Amino acid sequence: MDGATTRLLGPEGLAVTSVEDGQVGPVVHLVPTDEAARRCPECGTRARRSKGRRSTRPRDLPTGGRRPSLVWRKRRWRCDQSSCPRRSFTEAVGSVSARKRLTVGLRASAGAAVADTGRTVVQSAREHDVSSSVVAAAFTEHAARVLPVQPETVEVLGIDEVRRGRPKWVYDDQAQSWQTIVDRWHIGFVDLSGGQGLLGQVEGRTAAAVVERLAARPADWRQRIRHVAIGMSTVFKSAIRQALPHAQLVVDHFPVAQLANATVTEVRRWVTIQVRGRRGRKGNHEWELRNRLTRRADSLSNDHLAELQADLKLLPKRIGTPITAAWNTKEDLLDLLALAHTNPNREQIADLLYRFYCGCAASGLPELERLATTVQTWWLTILAFINTGITNAGSEGTNRMIKTIARDAYAFRNPVNQRLRTRCATTRRARGHLDPR
Ligand SMILES: [Zn+2]
Repeated sequence: MDGATTRLLGPEGLAVTSVEDGQVGPVVHLVPTDEAARRCPECGTRARRSKGRRSTRPRDLPTGGRRPSLVWRKRRWRCDQSSCPRRSFTEAVGSVSARKRLTVGLRASAGAAVADTGRTVVQSAREHDVSSSVVAAAFTEHAARVLPVQPETVEVLGIDEVRRGRPKWVYDDQAQSWQTIVDRWHIGFVDLSGGQGLLGQVEGRTAAAVVERLAARPADWRQRIRHVAIGMSTVFKSAIRQALPHAQLVVDHFPVAQLANATVTEVRRWVTIQVRGRRGRKGNHEWELRNRLTRRADSLSNDHLAELQADLKLLPKRIGTPITAAWNTKEDLLDLLALAHTNPNREQIADLLYRFYCGCAASGLPELERLATTVQTWWLTILAFINTGITNAGSEGTNRMIKTIARDAYAFRNPVNQRLRTRCATTRRARGHLDPR
């Protein structure tokens, strides 16, 4: 056969000797082109005496939309070197590993489809016409090849937790309460400044797990981290104080705004119960306002904002006054958070913070006093957000991806596997697989 046929149909190191029509497609007969196939793998001596042949049918990637059947009548050779412990061997080439039914190319493609292009194991198995256990093994091999062993320097680290699977409870008759028996979590570490994506995950949701993971990194790597973005989690706060005492903790506007909105809702529910003696429902004006109350005033048009303020005035006084106080305080806090990215000076920040605290104190509502206390507890980390504009949004985006992967896989039984799949999926951009060029 000519060289073109070999280039088209032959795996590397094998030449096509003939092509014939088979029952399901072309049957391609192969011989090794490389002299090395004839050398003893033990001593490297070139063999002279053949022991006969045996047929193998390695499966390769499709060519031109069809999958030709490859037939390689492998020769078995005797090793004539008297000192060599190996008496005989079968010829082998690099593109078809010994004792493997698939070519290296097919295996790599099946693994790469999962690790680099977001296919599930089942999809890749169907596309490559192999079993899912073969794809799972090929994926693990591919991931070990392509994932960076050690993360590079990180300046801004994001830490967040994500639940693994569903929690399970049982009712404890003696204690007369529900007890959690299964509640599995992963803590993720994300590079928020350098685009390396998810650096890794650890099981659990304790400070010890975070400290242990960070302690495993070289001291120089830890020293380079300048900021750590976290949610309002005392567990992560204490872990970072312990493991990275030099780093500045940052809590961005998302959890703070979420807490402020939850406080408005809490006040609204509480006064409804107090005044009406039941929960709010359709026909109660404050209940109908509930969604607009938790919208940022900035995101409403002038007309809608005026309408909301007029509606608040129309509420019965015993209901309207606390709700309006809570809403105003929430907006004060959001104004303060909105100073981030505006390069504010210290007076601006101090003025708005003072206004917020005064609003909480003047309201006399325990919910708002609690909000003020929480803001005070976290103030230095919130101030760090206002000054730097660093957010943990990268971790949140990663969490969304982690959940998508778990759903696509119909959940994972093996957490090691889950972490590997997750890591491959969340580092695709960093590894250049999402670049449109
Ligand atoms: Zn030998």
